[in-house]
Order: sequence, then C-alpha cells, then structure tokens
Amino acid sequence: MGAYQHILLAVDYSGHSDICARRAKDLAKKYQAKFSLIHVLDNIPMPDTGYGTVISLTEDSGYALLEAEKDRLKQIGDRLGIAQSNRWLIWGTPKQEIVQLAEREQVDLIVVGSHGRHGLSLLLGSTANSVLHYAGCDVMAIRLPDDSVF
Ligand code: AMP
Repeated sequence: MGAYQHILLAVDYSGHSDICARRAKDLAKKYQAKFSLIHVLDNIPMPDTGYGTVISLTEDSGYALLEAEKDRLKQIGDRLGIAQSNRWLIWGTPKQEIVQLAEREQVDLIVVGSHGRHGLSLLLGSTANSVLHYAGCDVMAIRLPDDSVF
C-alpha cells in the first residue's frame, strides 16, 4: 500500500492549472491512490438548483454559466482519467470547501498551486496558504510561475 491513498487536486482553471494537474496525476499513479478533483464556484451567483452547495454533475441545471463550469470540470476530469464520482463541483469559498471535502472524503494529500506573493495579495493571503494552515492532511503546494505585475 502506498504512502498516499487518496489525492485531491484543487483546480481554479488558471493558465497554470496544468502544472498542478500533471504533478497530482503522477503522484496518484505512483502511489496507486484514489484520485479526486475539486473546483469551487466562488465567482458566479448561485442559481436555484436545489442541489445545495454540492452541485450534481449529472443533471441539467438549465443555467448556462453552471453548465459551462460543469463542462470545464468534465474536460479536466476526462483528461486526467478521474472517475465521474470523484469529481466535485461545489459552490462556496475555495479554502473552506477544499478542506471540508478533504476531511469528508478522507483525502490524505491535497495538491494546490502556489503563486509567489507580494504586495496586496500577500496581505490578503492565498488559497494555498489557507489550505496548508487548516487541512488535517498533507498539502503539496506546487510553485507556479508568477505573472502578476505588482
Ligand atoms: P490562489 O492562491 O487563490 O491564487 O490559488 C492557489 C491554488 O488554490 C490554485 O492553484 C488552486 O490549486 C487552488 N484554488 C484556488 N481557487 C480555487 C477554486 N475556486 N477551486 C478549486 N481550487 C482553487
């Protein structure tokens, strides 16, 4: 049995998400771990889907923005060979939802991206920092190229 049995990849669909995805996939393969994927919707208004904060990936919500998000998650999940049942689209605050899902699903490694921080973003903190701080399991922060300008 490998050191990690359940690896959770958190994706924000930024330009560098692929770097994290490749690293997480390699680890899942190396440890023959269950491989899960989460995207948290924090930038679209919550439609009245009746699903609560965990959004069904199989039913049609009839809400264009939500369908587009489901489609993006499907593309990444398909590319990484992640089982449908291990893909999570959740509405809320990324740092909270990532940590809560990890606890609920008994994840033992969370993979997130990490940008070099300076200026205002350093003061405000980052998802990676918060996950590292609050998660009850290991967290791997993949250093991403920094293309911010301040
Ligand atoms: P940030 O520090 O907020 O720029 O994000 C760093 C990392 O946190 C990203 O590379 C993702 O791994 C994760 N993350 C940020 N936002 C989200 C989100 N909405 N859903 C899932 N993961 C996220």
